[in-house]
Amino acid sequence: MDSTLQNKDRELIWHPYTQMKDALPFIPMVRGEGSYLYDENGAQYLDAVSSWWTNIHGHGHPYIAAAIYAQAQKLEQVIFAGFTHPTAVQLAEMLLKRIPFHQKIFYSDNGSTAVEVAIKMALQFWWNKGQERKKIIAFKDAYHGDTFGAMSVSARGVFTAPFQNLLFDVEFIPTPVPGQEQLALDELNALIQRYGHKEIAGFIFEPLVLGSGGMLMYSEQVLGELMGVCKTNNIITIADEVMTGFGRTGKFLATDYCQNKPDIICLSKGITGGFLPFAATTCTQDIYEAFLSNDKAKMFFHGHSYTANPLGCVAGIASLELFEKEGTLDKVAEIEKLHRSFVNEIKENPSITDVRCRGTILAIELNTEDTGGYLSNIRDRAYAFFMERKIILRPLGNIIYILPPFCTSADDMQKVYAAINEFLNTRG
Ligand SMILES: *Cc1c(COP(=O)(O)O)cnc(C)c1O
Repeated sequence: MDSTLQNKDRELIWHPYTQMKDALPFIPMVRGEGSYLYDENGAQYLDAVSSWWTNIHGHGHPYIAAAIYAQAQKLEQVIFAGFTHPTAVQLAEMLLKRIPFHQKIFYSDNGSTAVEVAIKMALQFWWNKGQERKKIIAFKDAYHGDTFGAMSVSARGVFTAPFQNLLFDVEFIPTPVPGQEQLALDELNALIQRYGHKEIAGFIFEPLVLGSGGMLMYSEQVLGELMGVCKTNNIITIADEVMTGFGRTGKFLATDYCQNKPDIICLSKGITGGFLPFAATTCTQDIYEAFLSNDKAKMFFHGHSYTANPLGCVAGIASLELFEKEGTLDKVAEIEKLHRSFVNEIKENPSITDVRCRGTILAIELNTEDTGGYLSNIRDRAYAFFMERKIILRPLGNIIYILPPFCTSADDMQKVYAAINEFLNTRG
């Protein structure tokens, strides 16, 4: 491989979530099309993780690319305080139509900012009402992003250890994976008992699937019940749909599986079809109205330079249009069907302790003595194994998961399953 690019990269660039000291050479990718990425020598890689869970309709989708190009020639960016623009309004209309129980949308740049916005909204909601509610509840395996607020409401672990003492206090309840549902509900109720009604501001959760925590899955029944308990006790519910949104779990939103609805929803990753960094936090009219006042000090004190960037908005609009034009949720259902038969095929394999699936997400827990978690060696071995076969899978510790673009063909899915099968049957 021509290494000019790699050498320059190594000289100049610090990569995310990477120990740079012994990092493998970074593969220079120059092109993407559908489920595939192409390196500078033309080798093709099957992107079975949707490029960090962002891609939906496939790489380089011409419909989204054309929309961005056309918008860039008209208006690429405008300050969003004091001004608005047609694409921000159109995307708001289209998104809120799919979230009919929400009336307002707040734009930002990425998943972490969508979460920061949600947490600040919940805290300032109570502050504006003259109640000092400071406690946030979260799942103990949660991942909500890498900024300080988002880290605070995330699992305490290797990601957050260096910052531990600077994170704000959060009450963690057990993740309601199968068998733990009642425990989670009991602990939520116990917290409410302990703090009374006037201290808990909100409950933030990844609905149905906890991503970085290891693709942990739980039922819509217990999620509905948890949201119900919060509603009864006047606790704001925040659904972090950054990973689960836009069809990933089978419905448009993961919370679409529940009768009870969250007060605030965080969206990012798939919002632009995977083209641009962009995010939105949506909320109920009730939350919004707590910020309306003759007192300027009650406005929402948040904003980013690129809030509602027109290119992001137009990519979001084009992506939502593709959901209609291409029957995107039907493709999701097809992938889920394939996943389910693969689950049946491998569930008795002695190399694994669990296999689970929800929508397009399939996760396999490897049977291992290695307790290194996210940093475990088995992860590196598995990663290398699939890369040799030009399949991009990034195991989380001992958990191998597939999270493909929705355009991935049945043949390509079979390639991924075959490689996983081979890995399961050759390791020892
Ligand atoms: C990825 C992710 C985030 C953070 O999003 P970034 O765009 O990486 O900041 C937040 N919440 C969930 C559930 C995520 O999966």
